[in-house]
Formats: sequence, C-alpha cells, structure tokens
Amino acid sequence: MAKIFCVANQKGGVGKTTTTVNLAAGLAQVGQRVLMVDLDPQGNATMGSGVDKRSMALSVYDVLLESASVAEAAVQSEKCGYTVLGANRELAGAEVELVDVERREKRLKTALAAVEADYDFVLIDCPPSLSMLTLNGLCAAHGVIVPMQCEYFALEGLTDLVNTIKQVHANLNPDLQIIGLLRVMFDPRITLQQQVSDQLKAHFGDKVFDTVIPRNVRLAEAPSYGLPGVVFDPSARGSQAFVAFATEMVTRLGQR
Ligand code: ADP
Ligand code: MG
Repeated sequence: MAKIFCVANQKGGVGKTTTTVNLAAGLAQVGQRVLMVDLDPQGNATMGSGVDKRSMALSVYDVLLESASVAEAAVQSEKCGYTVLGANRELAGAEVELVDVERREKRLKTALAAVEADYDFVLIDCPPSLSMLTLNGLCAAHGVIVPMQCEYFALEGLTDLVNTIKQVHANLNPDLQIIGLLRVMFDPRITLQQQVSDQLKAHFGDKVFDTVIPRNVRLAEAPSYGLPGVVFDPSARGSQAFVAFATEMVTRLGQR
C-alpha cells in the first residue's frame, strides 16, 4: 500500500515543488513506484516533471470534481520514471466549485484509495496556503514533509503549520503526522543558517531529516528543461542530496 505524503509549508518559494519532484525522481531511482500529485494551480511540479500543463487532457481538477479517476487522469513521465497527476490554472476554480459539495475536503483521499496498491509512494505538492486544495492534500495523506530554509523567521512560520496539522489530525484525519522537516537551500557558510539548524534539531529532534539539501544552482536550472535536478544533472551536489534523501525516506519507513 502506498505511503501518501504531502509536501507542505504555507510559505511560498521555500522549496516545496523542488522537493516534491526531486524526491519523486530520487525514489524512482531507488526502485520505488511513485505517483506525484500536483495540487498547485501554478502547475510547476507538472511542468518540472516534463508534462505540459497546457495540453493535458485531464488533470487533478477533473479528479477532484469526480469527472475522472486518478488512473484516467495521470500520465507517465518516461524521462522522470514516475507517474504525474498534473495541475494547471483550471485547478484554481476547484476551490469555488467545491464549496457546495459534500465531503469536499475528502475528494482526493477517496480518489487515491483506488490506486493505493499501484504505488509505493504518493507525493503531493501543495500550494502555499491553507486552502481547500491543501486541505484535500492533508486529508489524503499519512504524513507531511516540511521543506524549510534555515532563516530567521523559519521557526515562527512552523508554529502555524504545526497547529494546522494538529487541527486536521484532530478533526479530519487521525492518521496525519509530521514525517519530518527537511532543511533546504542550505548554505553552511552562513552562521545564522547553522544556528537555526541547531535550534530546529533542539526543538524537533529526530523529526529533522539527517539529509540536508544544499543551495545548488543546478536544482534551480532544471525546471526550465522540464526535469527534476536529479534527472537533469545527476552529478550535481543538490541532486545527490535528493537521492540521499530518498534513501533516507525508504530506510526510515523500513521499505527496503
Ligand atoms: P515553492 O514550491 O515552495 O514555492 P520552489 O520549489 O518553487 O518553492 O522553489 C523556489 C525557488 O527556489 C525556485 O526558483 C527553485 O528553483 C529555487 N530552489 C529551490 N530549491 C533550491 C536549492 N536547493 N538550491 C537552489 N535553488 C533552489
Ligand atoms: Mg511550488
């Protein structure tokens, strides 16, 4: 049965999409069957997996509105080695269209149940907000992976996210837990980043992943080629860190 994880953080630009596509590619490289679900209407994870968001016949939007199944709407990214349930601007409308429907926050969960046996991992890239879309992700997931930059306000931002996760856990999804915090865009030369990293470990203990993702320009260049860094330039430091992170995930979950 698939492990379903949301990559979430209500801040924008913290590395959610980069983490989602590179972890998906890293997991695929170590032999895992992966479905990547893009829940952000910007469709960056879709494009960054080599799927053109403008020419998709069906997307996660159709799945949320129950006019298509995951199996019908998802496409295989041959280059990346994982399956993509893509998103585009149409998804922004789902927010409004779901307002009046029943069990609106459970739509994704219900849809994913039909494919749980087909994958080892489902990774959900969330938008930077606590919207109905993110709520669908959190309701569908067993856990949350939180990418974060080790900057001054990082810990403050985490408090909000942790409270949100607690609320969803209490009211909607008793399975939900924080799997871990992933330090991304890390630059060890910056003293402040080291300090925040130490604070994180003091606060969250082994909820902080051992793997650290360095700031690496190859990871930032890869999306313009429609590829995760892990596929675009496997030898880059950032790519190697994401493959190490994939291995850490598999080891932690005992799925080896
Ligand atoms: P989010 O999905 O949280 O908005 P993104 O993954 O899109 O964040 O990342 C924001 C920007 O930072 C993007 O331009 C991305 O290419 C860049 N970026 C992300 N991670 C790294 C990294 N480790 N090193 C360098 N640039 C990165
Ligand atoms: Mg994003």
